[in-house]
Amino acid sequence: MDHQSTARDATKFKVLVVDDDQAIRQTYCDVLEDQGYPVAAADGGHSALQILMRQTFDVLIVDLKMDGMDGMVFIEEALRIWPGLGIIIISAYIAREIPSQAAKLGVSRILAKPVDITTFIETIEAEGHARQATNANIPEGNAIDLMREHLKLLTGVSHRSLSGETLSGALHEFGDSLANMVPSDIVGILVEEAGQDPAMTLTPQIALSPAFIDALKSEMMTRFKLLSGRSADEAHLNVQIDGAALDAQGPDTFKNALSVPLLIENEVCGLLTLATVGAESYGPNETSLLYHTSNHISAVFTALRKMHGLATRDSLTGIFNRVRLEEELDRTWLTSRRYSTTMGVVVIDIDNFKTINDAYGHSVGDEILRDFAHVMTGAARTTDIIARYGGDEFVAILPHAGDANARAFAERLLANTRKYVFCPNSHCLNITISVGVATSDNPTAPSTCSGLLGQADRSLYTAKRAGRNRICIWPGKAYVPDDTPLPPPGETTVTPDVIHPSNAGAKIIVVEDEEAIRRLVTLMLERDHHDVISFPNATEAIEELKANPGSREVLLTDIGLPDKSGIELLHEVTALDNGIIKIVMTGHATVDNAIMCLREGAYDFIQKPIERSQLLALLRRAREYRDLKNENDRYQAHLEAMVRERSAKLAASLQDIQAAYEFTLDALVRMLDARELYTGKHSKRVRELAVALAQELGLSAEDQENVARGAFLHDIGKISIPDHILLKPGPLTEEEWTIMKTHPQAGYDILRSSQYFQAPAQVVY
Ligand code: GH3
Ligand code: MG
Repeated sequence: MDHQSTARDATKFKVLVVDDDQAIRQTYCDVLEDQGYPVAAADGGHSALQILMRQTFDVLIVDLKMDGMDGMVFIEEALRIWPGLGIIIISAYIAREIPSQAAKLGVSRILAKPVDITTFIETIEAEGHARQATNANIPEGNAIDLMREHLKLLTGVSHRSLSGETLSGALHEFGDSLANMVPSDIVGILVEEAGQDPAMTLTPQIALSPAFIDALKSEMMTRFKLLSGRSADEAHLNVQIDGAALDAQGPDTFKNALSVPLLIENEVCGLLTLATVGAESYGPNETSLLYHTSNHISAVFTALRKMHGLATRDSLTGIFNRVRLEEELDRTWLTSRRYSTTMGVVVIDIDNFKTINDAYGHSVGDEILRDFAHVMTGAARTTDIIARYGGDEFVAILPHAGDANARAFAERLLANTRKYVFCPNSHCLNITISVGVATSDNPTAPSTCSGLLGQADRSLYTAKRAGRNRICIWPGKAYVPDDTPLPPPGETTVTPDVIHPSNAGAKIIVVEDEEAIRRLVTLMLERDHHDVISFPNATEAIEELKANPGSREVLLTDIGLPDKSGIELLHEVTALDNGIIKIVMTGHATVDNAIMCLREGAYDFIQKPIERSQLLALLRRAREYRDLKNENDRYQAHLEAMVRERSAKLAASLQDIQAAYEFTLDALVRMLDARELYTGKHSKRVRELAVALAQELGLSAEDQENVARGAFLHDIGKISIPDHILLKPGPLTEEEWTIMKTHPQAGYDILRSSQYFQAPAQVVY
């Protein structure tokens, strides 16, 4: 055996089996594993593309008739990812045109099912060796520059995502950078996410005609269907053109278009398309690069989307906030202008919300706001955009809606709100809303989207002034839909069905040794519907509180008791029940003592002789204070939980982005591996040894991590060394050595471009 086949026998070709028949897939895998081949399998085109984006293979075995994605389409895509991949078609039915179609893609090995084991293995060996010979001269130079650009691009997009820019902004920037990297006259990005209209961003680099745009749009829709197996919702497609202005005289069709799927978590969620006007076609380098870029960019976008979600949602209700609303308003407005469709804006304000807050407290108000967001979501179509504008004001944007649609939405929302039971677990409240509507086809249609929002806002004002619980459609009068009962004139629609906690009867414990005062105070309180128990000394009172912990809300105590000082009593009661409100009763002579009691946590003191109105007012104030404090504590806890949650999400996003970098670098090491057979394992071994040394030296965990990364990537700069030097079998000449010795600098330069790899870059250097 010659040297090459020995090397190959040791590593065996890596095979990917793609067949939708589980039994056949299993048989191929068993045979291959039995023979010592590393093997992976996929049940269709989409999952196979996912695997190919993350791993290299030598040989691909493909069935032609598969559910989801046609075998030939899949082969074409697979070759875009790895132009050097060896392909064998094994199919039960081979139509007459298949061999010539396959030959165009450079595929010549086609076997009919069932295939015997010897032929199967021989064909894999033959295809593997043939590919190895062709791949020996992997294109360099250009590919390396592209890879560098690729890293830079990734860094740029990640930085922008971290600086909190919008997803659509990042998509534009991404399109622009891509057009600079791979020559193209226009870049198109189609994104289709669950629950949202598909969005297409086109970035022309030169003046193109509207016909060109239409042609590219339909090309992208066709490719999307081919790659994803589903049609994008064209009726609701939002197209945004952001680049050179259109020109009717410009080119009206493209000569070359190249599309790759954007995949997020195994799903095709979009498409990346480049097109040129001229005849020069895209080579294997550009295609492969585009595929890898789209893959990595998908990871960054996933992270971006998460972060963007954080910045644009209202933290109380979870629906969009004002920032996002304004963005969506702009976007919907532009689309409706471009396609001459109508749109509606609806502004909603809850009636007498201040009264609700005052009567039931802020936390009930908050719950109502959350419930109302839910009611709005229920009344909206999936394409409508709803947001909290601030306070108790909400906005809905209705794309494609005219007066009739907007009116229907407003009436549905008004009726649903009236029917809805808010805070069902505590208070069961009904509320009403006032609604202002404006649509873009009204007689005094404004020329900007903020003008439209202003009209809706003024309509809302009209509805409020006309008595609330009604709708006003610009420029009309406010009206009450037929089936909506009016509230009684001049009254709020809030029916306080429970009494505010501060006004309900309190459970009070009174401690007073003078019987007359004790009885008087008890009587005063009972006449105000409070529940009172009383004791002549501290010891008995404490016994009671011990026996029934948490049963009393207020302690009202004399300061000069026979068995204990007031201060001692306060101490002990606080230890038993921290939440109890403490009020001391004091004679003229003991005011100083009372002030000391305040320092011990008493809420206030009241001077004898006790006057009923003073006592009751003090009690109310104390309880209101306590409610407020509890509310504040809850709010603090809520805030802290929110901060914790946000920090965790942010950390997860950062991790995703970092994972994308690691993946890119891993891909680079694998590319090196493909050129220089030992590098992959060599890099791993160097990493292990370096980590062992770092541990022995007692370096910090962070330093160990950086040493590990640096060691793994220490040969990364070899990407810039030409094959004839890197792979030269004999000793190098002096001149060749000089070139070889530049690789640490090259590696350093590559890694330095990413903020995450500053420390490993030093290690490499
Ligand atoms: P109108 O019918 O005229 O709208 O009367 P209104 O009482 O609802 O008046 P307005 O809309 O001006 O009042 C909004 C109130 O909403 C004022 C503010 O105290 C309250 N509010 C604003 N943000 C929040 C919040 O996040 N939670 C709670 N609970 N209340 C809020
Ligand atoms: Mg209001």
